[in-house]
Amino acid sequence: MKASSRKRYGIFRCRKCGGFNLAQLNFKTKTCPYCGARNSLSKVKFLAYASTWRAASEAVRRLKRLNK
Ligand SMILES: [Zn+2]
Repeated sequence: MKASSRKRYGIFRCRKCGGFNLAQLNFKTKTCPYCGARNSLSKVKFLAYASTWRAASEAVRRLKRLNK
């Protein structure tokens, strides 16, 4: 049974440049906006998840602050 009709988002660091990326989990790949590398979502390590885009982008901001 599928419980999730809601979209989920994941935050990961680009495998090439380490930049924070936000991806929809039902997608297979995400092209990094910083370096243009295509990250396969089945291979990246997700740092955080969110159920809304807004929550996800706030999480990215938090992570960026922590990693400065
Ligand atoms: Zn990148």
